[in-house]
Amino acid sequence: MKKLTITNYIFLCIISVLFISCNSEQNKPEVSLIDNSFDEKVDSILSLMTLEEKIGQLNLPSSGEIVTGLAKNSNIAQKIEEGKVGGLFNMSSLEKIKQIQKIAVEKTRLGIPLLFGMDVIHGFETTFPIPLGLSSSWDMALIEKTARMAANEASANGINWTFSPMVDISRDPRWGRVSEGCGEDPFLGSEYAKAMIRGYQGEDLSLPNTLMACVKHFALYGAPDAGRDYNTVDMSRIRMYNEYLPPFKAAIDAGVGSVMASFNEIDGIPATGNKWLLTELLRNQWEFNGFVVSDYTGVSEMIEHGMGDLQYSSALALNAGLDMDMVSEGFLTTLKKSFDEGKVSEEDITIACRRILEAKFKLGLFDDPYRYCKVKNRDEMVFTTKNRQFARAVSSQSMVLLKNENQLLPLKKSGTIALIGPLANTSENMGGTWSVNTVQNKSNSFLDGIKTVLGNQGEILYSKGSNLVYDPELEERATMFGKGLNRDNRTDKQLLDEALKVASKSDIIIAALGETAEFSGESSSRTNIELPQVQKDLLKALLKIGKPIVLVLFTGRPLVLKEESKTVPAILNVWFPGSEAGLAISDVLFGDVNPSGKLTATFPRSVGQIPIFYNYKNTGRPLGNKEGKFEKFKTNYIDERNEPLYPFGYGLSYTKFNYDDLKVSSQKMNINDSIEASVNVTNSGNYDGKEVVQLYIRDLVGSVTRPVKELKGFQKVMIKKGETKTITFTISVEDLKFYNYDLDFVAEPGDFEVFVGTNSETTLKSTFELNL
Ligand code: BGC
Repeated sequence: MKKLTITNYIFLCIISVLFISCNSEQNKPEVSLIDNSFDEKVDSILSLMTLEEKIGQLNLPSSGEIVTGLAKNSNIAQKIEEGKVGGLFNMSSLEKIKQIQKIAVEKTRLGIPLLFGMDVIHGFETTFPIPLGLSSSWDMALIEKTARMAANEASANGINWTFSPMVDISRDPRWGRVSEGCGEDPFLGSEYAKAMIRGYQGEDLSLPNTLMACVKHFALYGAPDAGRDYNTVDMSRIRMYNEYLPPFKAAIDAGVGSVMASFNEIDGIPATGNKWLLTELLRNQWEFNGFVVSDYTGVSEMIEHGMGDLQYSSALALNAGLDMDMVSEGFLTTLKKSFDEGKVSEEDITIACRRILEAKFKLGLFDDPYRYCKVKNRDEMVFTTKNRQFARAVSSQSMVLLKNENQLLPLKKSGTIALIGPLANTSENMGGTWSVNTVQNKSNSFLDGIKTVLGNQGEILYSKGSNLVYDPELEERATMFGKGLNRDNRTDKQLLDEALKVASKSDIIIAALGETAEFSGESSSRTNIELPQVQKDLLKALLKIGKPIVLVLFTGRPLVLKEESKTVPAILNVWFPGSEAGLAISDVLFGDVNPSGKLTATFPRSVGQIPIFYNYKNTGRPLGNKEGKFEKFKTNYIDERNEPLYPFGYGLSYTKFNYDDLKVSSQKMNINDSIEASVNVTNSGNYDGKEVVQLYIRDLVGSVTRPVKELKGFQKVMIKKGETKTITFTISVEDLKFYNYDLDFVAEPGDFEVFVGTNSETTLKSTFELNL
């Protein structure tokens, strides 16, 4: 006899409820209790649902009221009972999740379980570096493991759906959300997307320790005019397809369960209501079969965009292919009316509902609605010593050594070190932006970490030196969500004097400067991306003391460091390193870990160079020199050179890597062939170290203009001191393909250049020809 599973049990309940309460439904097809295929199960449920219940599944309200108050008797609880909710998000109390799920399962007519989503972006309680930092590790296996660990911790907390990965390509560091993405490159972004999705979703989404991923923000959100968050985007199709969409396509191909529509418009229609985007591209061209959720109030924001009222916007979104409405309640409150007026069809509502139900099936929620609520030993799974050790290791891999004059770093574990700066003693800011579950006061501040790592081998003196910025109001805006900096009420002069006194007693000064967690992130665009003036003034004064000085830079975006790159001998960019920040920074500073991170976003010399990126086009008037010499009537600036300060792919090591002997296995490549490009990399320095060897290709002649180079491969390898490794890349026709004028994905015959090197600017070069 077949075992009565919870699914069967629910179906039984459904049938009995229907039998008792709705006679008119008696003629509906009977739900089969035999082991139907997945589709049949969804069909069975759909056939029992009223139009209103279907619409209810498309509603994703905010759980704010429950987060702060009681689950029971809340307005949301009532809506759930009435079958008006498909899921909730950003609730982190397991107990409340259980209570709420119970309401959905036991009190609604059909007992359909809820999805529980959350912004699990770079870790859960164990917090990894911000995504821009994570991507700087260029270590996809490591990145996958961070997502796996985040899924383990979040699912132990009742969560089954994460609004991650965010793979918005961005070339504009004014935009605060560069911190949440993986930089500027479509190839790297695609690898990152796949790694994160593998980590979250695992092999089987129905396992209780996996999360359904949601790739976001679809699409082009990272290219707002003037770098201002939520701003208008206007972009050619050819740029979209070649430069901005690839990570999303990679996510779809990797089986991501859901997609979040972005806030911005595309070709004049907001993504939320853009049929070309959500249906033609996503469904018809890419064959995505999961569901699409709007961003927070994305549907109702179409009113402000000037698309029409809530009813019109909701119908527009549904008809465009949006399945779930986050927070606006436009679907819930207007779709029935639109149906009655013939503006939306029941079929489209059913299709959207089907996709939500399928997601719930995939997650195993129909088999057991409490699947993600069963962990008994939560504390043995979340923020454990083992997890924190892993986070410490990951953080050190994400840091990028920008400058190291005269091998000032690594530091010796001895003497007196002055740790100065507003970012030195703040555990609250270490998790960076979008770290909803980080227990801020348990994060390891730089000061705590360095004291632990140094132990009694040396002495640490500390002084704050300055506030974040001169302007208290700006500081308030940059320190939200409890990520304060305890603004010091002493005068700027008093703070500075104390710091100078402390620094003068030391052998070496470490300046912990930069941004706070919320100085970047959502709604934190900046027009000036230099170090804040008060910190510049502090740094200048510290430099005057004449002692060796290291700048440890905290930032969620590429900053303009033109001045500091000249005056400060050593700069270590640590991003926001996560819950183990202080320990990980100290591991790198003292050389227990040799830095190996490389930038995934270009650091400009000047804000005026933005948007800036390595894979630009040559133009008809390229500059004829790389020395920064101005040339009239060429593409350059009269007051600044073209090159960035630190290019894409850049990052130093404590050791030195020499590249030589770049060879291609053949000068000719045919359509079904592949060729190999190999290079010798020698560690000629004094430390073992990891190097990210990068492969770039240039298509010299095309039917449309092609970039001066594009990343097509990378390998992160450990090379011991004195050792030489031969690194080989295989290049196939697939690597040479691009979207042409007709948006066909093609490779075109002709000459190609191959570059292999340590960053996008410092490379060896070879050539080959493609014959088709
Ligand atoms: C953000 C999304 C996020 C959502 C839910 C929005 O403001 O743009 O990235 O997933 O809120 O918290």
